[in-house]
Amino acid sequence: MYKKLLTLLLAVASPSLFAQTITQRNPEIAQLVSEVSSDSLENYVRTLASFTSRHTLNRDEKNGMPAAQRYVLNKFNEFAKQSGGRMTAEIENFTIPADGRRITEDSPAANVIATLKGTNPADDRIFVISGHMDSRNKNVMDADGIAPGANDDGSGTAAVIELARVLAKKEFSATILFVTFTGEEEGLKGATYLADKAKEMGWNIAGVLNNDIIGNSNSSETLISDNLKMRVFSETIPAFETEQMSRQRAYTNAENDSKSRQLARYIKEVGERYVDQFEVKLIYRSDRFLRGGDQTAFARNGFTAVRMSEMNENFYHQHENVRVENGIQYGDLPEFMDFEYLRKVSAVNLASLSSLANSAGVPEEVQIDVRGLTNKSILLWKAPKIGKVKGYYVLMRETSSPMWERKFFTTEATLTLPYSKDNYFFAVQSVAEDGEESMAVFPSPLSR
Ligand SMILES: [Zn+2]
Repeated sequence: MYKKLLTLLLAVASPSLFAQTITQRNPEIAQLVSEVSSDSLENYVRTLASFTSRHTLNRDEKNGMPAAQRYVLNKFNEFAKQSGGRMTAEIENFTIPADGRRITEDSPAANVIATLKGTNPADDRIFVISGHMDSRNKNVMDADGIAPGANDDGSGTAAVIELARVLAKKEFSATILFVTFTGEEEGLKGATYLADKAKEMGWNIAGVLNNDIIGNSNSSETLISDNLKMRVFSETIPAFETEQMSRQRAYTNAENDSKSRQLARYIKEVGERYVDQFEVKLIYRSDRFLRGGDQTAFARNGFTAVRMSEMNENFYHQHENVRVENGIQYGDLPEFMDFEYLRKVSAVNLASLSSLANSAGVPEEVQIDVRGLTNKSILLWKAPKIGKVKGYYVLMRETSSPMWERKFFTTEATLTLPYSKDNYFFAVQSVAEDGEESMAVFPSPLSR
């Protein structure tokens, strides 16, 4: 009887429950991940929060935004010494034009950027990790009132600084930009400036990992305390889409396969591969209700961009003036942060970024043959333009599944699988010689 019951259980349970997951860590990336330090992160956050205000329009050279920006620049320059001349840093000044809303007149502003130049001259890809320097209190127009912004977005800024520290000494094929934006709270001004510049200059920005509010692990109202999960927001219907892209999306039912969603899946897979006791949740939204983030400035220009954020938010400590009311301490103060949690989110960024920056380019002209009525699926593609590959993974998942479920390795540039193209989604990623995977490419239909 017992045996029969067990057989029945095995028969009805999903096969994935019994499948093993193989975790293969590149020792070099694992080493870098282990160097991400909660103490360093705490130190950056406390320093950032110690400036009176990092409001975009704050002009206090001694204790305000300009001083905070010099602090970040100095950090970048200090780390750059480890890079053998490959890392450079700058405060990039620009003007935010008056917008009749939060910017009443043309205003000077600046992003702080470190660039770690790629070692392969043939690799023009740029990967961006970002956070926003600027903070605010309740009144978004108040440029001088106290606004520590420890978590929003001292946390994202700290992650950017910490990754610059750990990665400065390492060589990557692609270029990495470490960016701390200004003007996020005024309408994504700093990110828009850089995204527009990138588009104008034809930069090959292959992925943007934007970090905004990543250092708190408990929720207001629902009182959840949990440092085991983070969120990655990715757009469903791309903010930038041509008529032709839209028609193809409808035809292939690719609503769940935007480039940003592929990046989000990549971050989940690689992040969970390297960071223990941590789950990356895919959120099928470009951002939260009532809130936005700098990733959107890039998405609007057609770049692949996601937002990393904490799982449980505490609204007593966002955009609130520092005060005690009815016994509750409000304000975005470092004492409410969880620096071990911030370490994990930063480590997910580091693992993903390191893997991406040493991956080969994505396979080109990825297609699925839809010309015939067949119960097989035929995928075909061309070698990437960048880097050497040892092969490719063809990824497969049920149409109702959020994550890729199987990876078929091949050294060819085509693969025929005995699974119906009608019943699964597929994608292809390249595998570099040292094993790093590229982002997955969803195939376009080969229909004639
Ligand atoms: Zn923010």
